[in-house]
Amino acid sequence: AVHKETHGFQTEVKQLLNLMAHSLYSHKEVFLRELISNASDAADKLRFKALSDASLFEDDGQLRVRLHIDKDKRTLTISDNGIGMSRDEAIEHLGTIAQSGTRQFFSHLSGDQAKDSQLIGQFGVGFYSAFIVADKVTVVSRAAGQSADRGVCWESDGTGSFTVEDVHKAGRGTDVILHLKEGEDEYLDDWQLRSVIGKYSDHISVPVELWKEGEPAQGEGENAIPATEGHWEQVNRATALWTRSPKEITDEEYQEFYKHLSHDFENPVAWSHNRVEGTQEYTSLLYVPTKAPWDMWNREQKHGLKLYVQRVFIMDDAEQFMPTYLRFVKGVLDSNDLPLNVSREILQDNKVTAQLRKACTKRVLGMLAKLAKDDADKYQLFWNEFGNVLKEGPAEDYGHKEEIAKLLRFASTHNDSDVQNVSLEQYVSRMKEKQEKIYYIVADSYAAAKNSPHLELLRKKGVEVLLMWDRVDEWLLSHLSDFDGKQLISVTRGDLALGELEDEESRKQHEEAQKEFASLVERLQSALGDKVKKVTISHRLTETPSCVVTDAYGMSTQMMKLMQAAGQ
Ligand code: ADP
Ligand code: MG
Repeated sequence: AVHKETHGFQTEVKQLLNLMAHSLYSHKEVFLRELISNASDAADKLRFKALSDASLFEDDGQLRVRLHIDKDKRTLTISDNGIGMSRDEAIEHLGTIAQSGTRQFFSHLSGDQAKDSQLIGQFGVGFYSAFIVADKVTVVSRAAGQSADRGVCWESDGTGSFTVEDVHKAGRGTDVILHLKEGEDEYLDDWQLRSVIGKYSDHISVPVELWKEGEPAQGEGENAIPATEGHWEQVNRATALWTRSPKEITDEEYQEFYKHLSHDFENPVAWSHNRVEGTQEYTSLLYVPTKAPWDMWNREQKHGLKLYVQRVFIMDDAEQFMPTYLRFVKGVLDSNDLPLNVSREILQDNKVTAQLRKACTKRVLGMLAKLAKDDADKYQLFWNEFGNVLKEGPAEDYGHKEEIAKLLRFASTHNDSDVQNVSLEQYVSRMKEKQEKIYYIVADSYAAAKNSPHLELLRKKGVEVLLMWDRVDEWLLSHLSDFDGKQLISVTRGDLALGELEDEESRKQHEEAQKEFASLVERLQSALGDKVKKVTISHRLTETPSCVVTDAYGMSTQMMKLMQAAGQ
């Protein structure tokens, strides 16, 4: 029973296929990275499954990936002996996009190729990237543990549909056969291919092999596709990057590994690689990306680290090891202390998890502090992308409040610009001689903050005020009441206490004004009635005649607006 069927691609897949051909041509070699990654993932998945059922290895326990060129047929084949796919799995995995928020993703595209290609890269083109260079793709697969007659052949020209039919496949695993487009002959050239593959697969933990013509093959099993004389030659190092000593890893290798992990086209801003021995034994390799992912504010966004236990891949997106305010971090965690049969449920409530999470959090905060110190420009780029996420930190992670506070950046009256580049440490170092507090204002926009009448007196006295207008700022400030022993105080508070900053003269002036305008205050109070709590003479304004303030223990004006917007 060959049982051949035709299926239409999911709408989003069609859209993606369409876009890719146009937007990704300048990054076309990513298809190799994606297909080699998939092959290596398939090996990882088999190794994991075989932990509980060793028979899945059949008689072929040497996991590897092989690439083979056929110049006459103009095909490039990527083969693995990993987990493989059943017919149903092929239909599902190679016909739809599983990722949540796929629809929103498409609404983010702008039509600007450079911007879109970045987004598409982060979204993950995966398997479909094969169609950048191929006008037909054939996938022959057989799932581990199934008999040889349960193979599937999937085929498509990458337009609207694909076919599947039952086939016989002796070896377990997957062959992805690319029928290369006219003009893609570089992928038929052995030397060319070798150099590209070296770059993409050096850090992959399974051997990647190329067919070397010439000397005869020896001991090739059933998977010997080539009809020519030759033998398989390993072209990569096949050592997981994080297991190597940091001293001997180059920046390029770290960057390439990041791209493999994240599918990003850009290099990371910073990374931190640590091997820890002792009571806890683990290796972490953590990266901070350059650009925020398109779905950073999507609640279902996948995030977290790739988890290994004793070098064995366990799961992707293990979010238990990274707090939410660091959800942009990508990386690998390899623990020697967790059990190999660890599941998401076990991780949830586990002492080792908690320790590792703390350690990884410290690493990231340390890496950011170092970046801020060593390269303020780069740190600024990081802040512009991820600052608003980091601002969630003090609320989520009280224990690291101090470290996080040092990483925060704000706009301020000192710079007169909307660039958020003033740290609290800088603010404190510039405080006036008798100034005891850190002043800030939260408004709807930079312009509203900067032009607020509440700033007049402080400006006149030359006191710096931090200007804030991001949605998360009130939330941040309700969890960050002080820094370096100094209280953070909103200039919209009624009793704006200037403390020692107030000089004798202005105090006197204030008292006189109070006497002089007592009857005006009374009249205003009775005219406004219940609409206000209190009318007072203020010394904080120098140009504007009056303004609305909140009382010292009440809500700030911005918080009140938020509550009103929420229908309170
Ligand atoms: P991702 O790898 O991010 O899941 P891809 O588009 O690269 O997305 O692949 C989609 C799915 O197709 C994979 O999750 C996997 O289930 C399946 N797949 C792709 N290539 C292989 C392969 N070589 N072996 C087994 N399954 C594969
Ligand atoms: Mg993939």
